[in-house]
Amino acid sequence: MEDSREVKKKVVIVIGGGVAGSVVAKTLQDNADVVLIDLKEYYEIPWASLRSSVEPSFAEKSVINHWDYLPNARIVTSAAVNITRNEVLTAQGCLIAYDYLVIATGHGGTDARTRTEKLSHYRTEHQKIKSANSILIVGGGPTGVELAGEISVDFPDKKVTLVHRGSRLLEFIGSKAARMALDWLASKNVEVILGQSVDLNSVSDGVYRISGGETVTADCHFDCTGKPMGSSWLRETDLKNSLDIRGRLMVDANLRVKGHENVFGIGDITDIPEIKQGYMAQKHAMVAAKNLKLLIVEGKESRLAKYKPAAPLAFVSLGRKEAVAQIFCMSISGHIPGMIKSKDLFVGKMRRQLGLKS
Ligand SMILES: Cc1cc2nc3c(=O)[nH]c(=O)nc-3n(C[C@H](O)[C@H](O)[C@H](O)COP(=O)(O)OP(=O)(O)OC[C@H]3O[C@@H](n4cnc5c(N)ncnc54)[C@H](O)[C@@H]3O)c2cc1C
Repeated sequence: MEDSREVKKKVVIVIGGGVAGSVVAKTLQDNADVVLIDLKEYYEIPWASLRSSVEPSFAEKSVINHWDYLPNARIVTSAAVNITRNEVLTAQGCLIAYDYLVIATGHGGTDARTRTEKLSHYRTEHQKIKSANSILIVGGGPTGVELAGEISVDFPDKKVTLVHRGSRLLEFIGSKAARMALDWLASKNVEVILGQSVDLNSVSDGVYRISGGETVTADCHFDCTGKPMGSSWLRETDLKNSLDIRGRLMVDANLRVKGHENVFGIGDITDIPEIKQGYMAQKHAMVAAKNLKLLIVEGKESRLAKYKPAAPLAFVSLGRKEAVAQIFCMSISGHIPGMIKSKDLFVGKMRRQLGLKS
């Protein structure tokens, strides 16, 4: 007689379908009953988003429905709002039990719930750029610099002004790399104003007031001041004591949340002492997936892999052919780093990693 008893798979809930969450869910979907909880129905390759504003068809490849790469996982489109020792509560009132939990809510927040809405958003952004003669970009981090690069290369006749509150661009990498980005933008006639902030509520007839008392005139603006970290919702949960004073999730060397043996924290949300990059978030995801497999399949604590914080490695694209890079303590700019990132913005590589055609 056939034994009809099935071995019940362990439930692994992954909260956050960004760079880290998508990789961990993809890697574990055949080893566990994986549930991905995300605010939106799709994964978007973040560093491709600015190209999508100047070339909306680019988003066809970089905005990917979760179910396309997770055929064997359950997908819940909602915000996670609470966590207890064995359950997650979503904003829609769904309680889902877990054996293991992975928190990867990075830099949360989204303006579009579905892929269709996101693609339409990029068509609107593109139209906004096309119909403007002058454009103000607020924020000189990677988003502001990359957007200024994309617009100045694809629309060289537009007047682009970038206003940044800090004393230099790209504060997350070295000052030499930042200087290279500034020089490149100047060579493309982008006006960069440093040490000033813009009051976006004070705009009147295309005149924007900046903190030094001067004004900038522009037909439209893009707010590139960055998204807040997606950890504030954890303050009301069982994990509230696992956040440091900056709101980062404190993890141990195995990437488990300190004091919680069955909860992992990965990606930008963690307190790992390194620059916050998708490249690192993917490495965290691989270590967490490896450790979860060990715990699920072998129940082995002793062989858990340790994550070693990585040295700085960052590429900021400058239009379609050039980039500036921080490689450990070395800064380079121009066509060589551009060849690595700027042509397809690692979209093919990321799609292959998710098991999709590049
Ligand atoms: C313009 C730009 C260019 C960049 N270029 C590079 C680059 O070239 N190379 C590189 O390595 N890195 C780059 N980065 C950095 C990289 O994008 C981040 O480090 C990476 O996205 C972090 O991944 P994550 O999974 O931790 O978080 P995210 O990718 O931010 O994902 C967080 C996910 O959590 C979800 N979420 C948030 N709150 C909740 C909730 N309560 N419930 C459910 N879901 C929730 C969100 O919907 C989102 O899907 C760039 C970033 C930007 C903005």
